[in-house]
Amino acid sequence: MEHFTIQDKVALVTGSNRGIGEAYVQELLAAGAKKIYATARDPDSLNALVEQNPAVIEPLLLDVTNAKHIKSVADKIDSLDILINNAGIVNACTFTADNALEIARLEMETNYFGPLQLTRALLPQLRKSKQAAVVNISSIAGISNFPVIGPYSATKAAMHSYTQGLRAELAQVGIQVVGVYPGPIDTRMADGWEIEKAQPEQVAQKTFAALSEGENDVFPDDFSKQMYATFLGHPQELEKVFSEML
Ligand code: NDP
Repeated sequence: MEHFTIQDKVALVTGSNRGIGEAYVQELLAAGAKKIYATARDPDSLNALVEQNPAVIEPLLLDVTNAKHIKSVADKIDSLDILINNAGIVNACTFTADNALEIARLEMETNYFGPLQLTRALLPQLRKSKQAAVVNISSIAGISNFPVIGPYSATKAAMHSYTQGLRAELAQVGIQVVGVYPGPIDTRMADGWEIEKAQPEQVAQKTFAALSEGENDVFPDDFSKQMYATFLGHPQELEKVFSEML
């Protein structure tokens, strides 16, 4: 199989105004992408990023839970090679908390149904590409539930399962589907987590290195690598490690 390259590709990143999403845009730019649709709920929050290279980075309004936004983005984009489903939310909420159901629904809308609907809307463009990829950001908490944020972990498990199913379906048309399973990353999402965190650039760099090598699963930091190795040793061992963090 030919190595996947970023050079001259057209990409779209959700939640690209900060954190890991912004790092993906920076890496795409550095690797020579032809066009990067940087999307966000508030396009003004993309101003500084766009200024770096307005000829390449185009800001677009996109709340992934908004069907009208998704349609308008899909109508606007003629061609697309790389879709990065990055946008996500987390709440400090357990399954037994009073508001668990409300939070679970809210998080599923953003972390699972949003990417599902967006990907479906952009599939015609991806199918036309000579070399296309869908990159789904799950989490190591999607491999084994992280009880401090149980409902969030369930959304990331949904993303993991979706990634596997989509990969099987799109293999026939040659679209690569990559799952990314970070551990703690130093972004606003992880503010206040008393744990060692990797940098968002590392997540983006490891993703594109894996894409180029034809690898499907990305464990981009030491924590996620170590935890996945524990899982492979015995799934219940990782469940035990995470439950002891509650
Ligand atoms: P941030 O909180 O820094 O960024 C989240 C991004 O998602 C923001 O750009 C935010 O936009 C956007 N977003 C939230 N809801 C929506 C929505 N409905 N539509 C469009 N955009 C939305 O977090 P990270 O950069 O860390 O998170 C990126 C991804 O990585 C997420 O999917 C997260 O679950 C995952 N992840 C993060 C880990 C970490 O430790 N940080 C670990 C494992 C996975 P706005 O500015 O408008 O809020």
